[in-house]
Amino acid sequence: MLTGIMGGTFDPIHTGHLLAAERAREEAGLDEVWFMPAGTPPHKPNAPKAPARHRLGMVEAAIAGNRYFRAEPIELHRDGPSYTVDTMKELKELYPDRDFYYIIGADMVQYLPHWVRINELAAMVRFIGLARPGYSADTGSLPAELRSSVISIPMPQVDISSTMIRDMRSRGRSVKYLVPDAVLAYIEENRLYES
Ligand code: ATP
Ligand code: MG
Repeated sequence: MLTGIMGGTFDPIHTGHLLAAERAREEAGLDEVWFMPAGTPPHKPNAPKAPARHRLGMVEAAIAGNRYFRAEPIELHRDGPSYTVDTMKELKELYPDRDFYYIIGADMVQYLPHWVRINELAAMVRFIGLARPGYSADTGSLPAELRSSVISIPMPQVDISSTMIRDMRSRGRSVKYLVPDAVLAYIEENRLYES
């Protein structure tokens, strides 16, 4: 089973994440994509705005009814931040018959050399890199051993970020169609990002 892992803060999940996952699924022939929200680091100034349960709730709302997508809360069961390399080691132990691909946007492609224990991680998973406005998805500047573990997949550029959605909400602006309707309903119901 080929399994894509889409890690992120998902604060909130938006159309860019969903399209990236779908492009990766189809182009790389993945059987499933698992959306994996990151844990909330305690007392950090850049900690997510919404608590973990709501970030997971929004992911679940966004992917409901898509049989290829599921939510993987493994990083939320730990206190504080997790390193991707440790999470993937755990997932490989839990699911030894699966091959994992780690899906990332172009901003993360460029940042890969700075990931903790990146060579250990690159030995466990392959990366799928997708275009994102403002960043180059080109792997040419990566060290050779990393370059060969990134598969670049085309995607219509979607100029949406969670930061933009939080800002718009806090200014009372509509985020309809930037997030799926079910996510918008969840945000409104729980009065998220109003300030
Ligand atoms: P924030 O603005 O809070 O950083 P974000 O929109 O970047 O939020 P993240 O949760 O940080 O979302 O991203 C999770 C993953 O999704 C990352 O690999 C990121 O590169 C990718 N991603 C996010 N938005 C897009 C987009 N519009 N197009 C392609 N990839 C994206
Ligand atoms: Mg981001």
